[in-house]
Amino acid sequence: MQEIAVSAPKRAKKRTRVDSEASEEEHPPTRSPARNILKCSEEFWYEDGSVVLVAQDTAFRIYRGLLAQHSPVFRDLFTIPQPNTSESVDDCPVVRIPDDPDDVARLLRIFAATSTVSYFSNDQIPFADVAAIIRITHKYQMDQLLGRALQNLKTVFKDTFPDFIRLDHFLAESSIELDCRDAITVVNLAHLTQNLSMLPMALYICCQLAPKDIIAGVDRNGRRERLSQDDIVRCIAGRLKLSQASVTAVFRVFQCSDECMEQCKRVNGSTCRRALHAALQKYGADFSALCAGTMPLDTWITDDRDYFDSFSIKFCSGCWKRLQETEQEEHRRIWCELPVYFGLEVEGWKEKNPVVPK
Ligand SMILES: [Zn+2]
Repeated sequence: MQEIAVSAPKRAKKRTRVDSEASEEEHPPTRSPARNILKCSEEFWYEDGSVVLVAQDTAFRIYRGLLAQHSPVFRDLFTIPQPNTSESVDDCPVVRIPDDPDDVARLLRIFAATSTVSYFSNDQIPFADVAAIIRITHKYQMDQLLGRALQNLKTVFKDTFPDFIRLDHFLAESSIELDCRDAITVVNLAHLTQNLSMLPMALYICCQLAPKDIIAGVDRNGRRERLSQDDIVRCIAGRLKLSQASVTAVFRVFQCSDECMEQCKRVNGSTCRRALHAALQKYGADFSALCAGTMPLDTWITDDRDYFDSFSIKFCSGCWKRLQETEQEEHRRIWCELPVYFGLEVEGWKEKNPVVPK
């Protein structure tokens, strides 16, 4: 990788007699030699660039107008008169920023469209890229790009129940490569950008992670992603609430009231009543596993048809349909309550997810 030297800051025009006569030992250079030698980005070093952006030890020679057009932060940075002590490379002003050079490169790729993978196309892109773009565009107030990146993330992290039950479809369609451990980052991004509608689903997924991951965080693409203390508490409290909801849902689905039996197609409903009792006994026999469940929104009735058959628990088609409908009602109720489980107030959630009467 090519290296460049940054010009030492110019001396002030007005110098006192003492300054002019001072020795180097008394007035050492303000920057160390190491700081003045930078790596040129191989990807973004335009000879006619008008500004050298320095992120840590990497320099990008780019066009100031391009950044200023998208970011009021950069616009202000470039329009504020630079002191005559500012650094330069070939008379090109140097602007130092504290960001990760990889994140800066990700951002520049969007402007320059040099990558064969577009961030906003149908090609799948790593979640780490989306997260980095959200962080850096938020920091530099690049609202249009930030909005598009968040919109991309919200194609998966939904805030309504009908959308949630189609999650598999949205995941298959999504342009983002996601892992359940990325939910920790999504929680942090939701707080950072004040997009709290993503929080209930992201925290719900965090609750499925191993306790050590919830508390200590996870390594993702060389970056340690941790939940805040408040979110760790939300997950711990939420896991308990989800376990309780899981148990409650099982008992509600398999209850054997006269009302529940109205859809039974058997002339004598006693067979289906026995099947309901038997199913409850089976779940009750494994009560500890039932209580440990923190995924009450998973479809277990449909998935467990073979399980029931293996115990000769046979429901008629009417009762089976009723079980599936009741399970979905329970799922909807749990979904509506997710913010409450996590001690959150999410604006607009109640309107989008009206509580189902019991
Ligand atoms: Zn029946």
